Amino acid sequence: MKGNCLIFSAPSGSGKSTIVQWLTKEHPELNLEFSISATSRPPRGTEQHGVEYFFLTPEEFKAKIDANEFLEYEEVYTDRYYGTLKSQVEDMLENGKNVIFDIDIKGGINVKNFFGERALSLFIQPPSVEELRKRLVGRATDSAEQIEERLAKAEYEMSFAPQFDQIIVNDDLDTAKAETLKTIHNFLNKE
Ligand code: 5GP
Repeated sequence: MKGNCLIFSAPSGSGKSTIVQWLTKEHPELNLEFSISATSRPPRGTEQHGVEYFFLTPEEFKAKIDANEFLEYEEVYTDRYYGTLKSQVEDMLENGKNVIFDIDIKGGINVKNFFGERALSLFIQPPSVEELRKRLVGRATDSAEQIEERLAKAEYEMSFAPQFDQIIVNDDLDTAKAETLKTIHNFLNKE
């Protein structure tokens, strides 16, 4: 049996990746596999090629766009491309895996449109823009300028929340995790 798609999108810093990583680690019964995106941004901290992302040069990324190798891609920030390789996802679904996408808003909407009923799209929403600012400052991986750029983008991105199947407000992490799990169970058991 073919697998399904679980799409997670959010303004950056909303705790989306924490929830996604918790699911893949603590819930093996869900048969999840992480869709590894390609990006032209350099690795941060301990990130490794083929683990968090496939790190490509902008030239390599553009060559794959021309070869039609992406299911979707976005230039998320200037000259910073992110995209989902078709080959990655198809192999996993064929093997019956439920593929998790940790992806930006537009990408999430594009993947949902592509897979339709076979995809559940979740929007992880931070409690407020002020709270998001605190989290990004606390994370200390971005410059002040990058943080302002992300916050302006976050405000705009919040307006897309109603286009998702489910909004999960990440006010309290444990509550958000429990709600995410319940939503996924309902979706997978519908079949
Ligand atoms: P970061 O640089 O913090 O890892 O990610 C920046 C943004 O790119 C995040 O919103 C992340 O979800 C998004 N992103 C990661 N992978 C993909 C992808 O394959 N496609 C698209 N469209 N966005 C992605």
